[in-house]
Amino acid sequence: MSGLELIHADILYSGMGLPIRNGAVVVGGQTIAAAGELDSLRAQHPQAELRRTVDVIAPPPVNAHAHLDMSDYVFQALPYFQWIPEVVIANRSARGLAGAKNGLAQIRASGAAALGDIVWPKTPEVMAWLLGEADVSGVAYWEVLDPDPATAEQTFRQVVEDVARFRKLERPGKMRLGLSPHATYTVSSPLLRLLSDFARREGLPMQLHVAEHPSELELFTSGAGRLAESFIRSMQTSVPGLTIADVLGRAPDPELTPISYLAELGVLDAKPTLIHMVNVTDADIRTVAQSGANVVTCPRSNANLECGTFRWADFVAAGVDVALGTDSVASGETLSIFDEITAARRIHTSLDPRLIVRAAVKGGRRVLGGQIPFLRRGEAWDETYIWPDTSS
Ligand code: ZN
Repeated sequence: MSGLELIHADILYSGMGLPIRNGAVVVGGQTIAAAGELDSLRAQHPQAELRRTVDVIAPPPVNAHAHLDMSDYVFQALPYFQWIPEVVIANRSARGLAGAKNGLAQIRASGAAALGDIVWPKTPEVMAWLLGEADVSGVAYWEVLDPDPATAEQTFRQVVEDVARFRKLERPGKMRLGLSPHATYTVSSPLLRLLSDFARREGLPMQLHVAEHPSELELFTSGAGRLAESFIRSMQTSVPGLTIADVLGRAPDPELTPISYLAELGVLDAKPTLIHMVNVTDADIRTVAQSGANVVTCPRSNANLECGTFRWADFVAAGVDVALGTDSVASGETLSIFDEITAARRIHTSLDPRLIVRAAVKGGRRVLGGQIPFLRRGEAWDETYIWPDTSS
């Protein structure tokens, strides 16, 4: 008995380069003796015993986008325009700290190494708890919604105050504060500008929802379509007479897309993390790549709400860093990043699964910060590097 075990993995990701197929690690005691291709490791360590073959060996993945305060919602797969009123709005009383605590317990049980969470502005107690007490690392993004340009300055002043208050609660190695203008059309153009300049100056990471439903593109090109109509109908109850042109600070235009609009406003200069990005043009993908912004995809949420399929291979080809998130349980079903990886492999059948593994590990840390533990000779071995099977 040499005391060395050789563990074979269909996909091995050391945390560096591209994951490899048919990889292996040689483990002795609690230390990695070697990591690399199965055949060469067998030749170099003939005394090591092969006792296990697993799906993936990799550092723990991270969940880059969730809404923990919605964790007491009941999951329902409905088309987007039915889901918003019948699930999100109808169950608003279920949002809050109890849900967030329930959600964090699920995140921890799922084995995610870090979390990117959007905090609803009506539940500031969730932010105080995440920053001050919750045992998790990552970023808690303070959400901002205000489509009325007339109140942009006032809302911005409030955000500056909120940020100053929350920043005092941050603890080393735990959640950091971030900012999340909710979406391209629910925050007015002057406020989007103020928030992104502020985030850049203050070094606040930023996430926003972009190009989720196909009709978001229509809102920008023509000011019409289902999203524009339902949004304006709901907004005009509080701001009579508000138009899409008022919110955007310019007229819709056949050449305008959610991404070209953000580029025009200077929002992409803050290198935000763009959530969803399902309904985009080739030019949008190039613009995002040039800006250095990164993207989080939520495959189950996009499929369940019938928003379309993320053009993953095109983003990778353009050099954009892609990460994975579950979104809330209301649209994503569970907060397990491993469930999301499994679904991503099922939905993106023609995509090399090694890209999905790398996105969940490295892409997520590009969004949230944090070091990747490398799997190489001399580093400590951790059984959690063997992932639950995500291949089916
Ligand atoms: Zn979201």
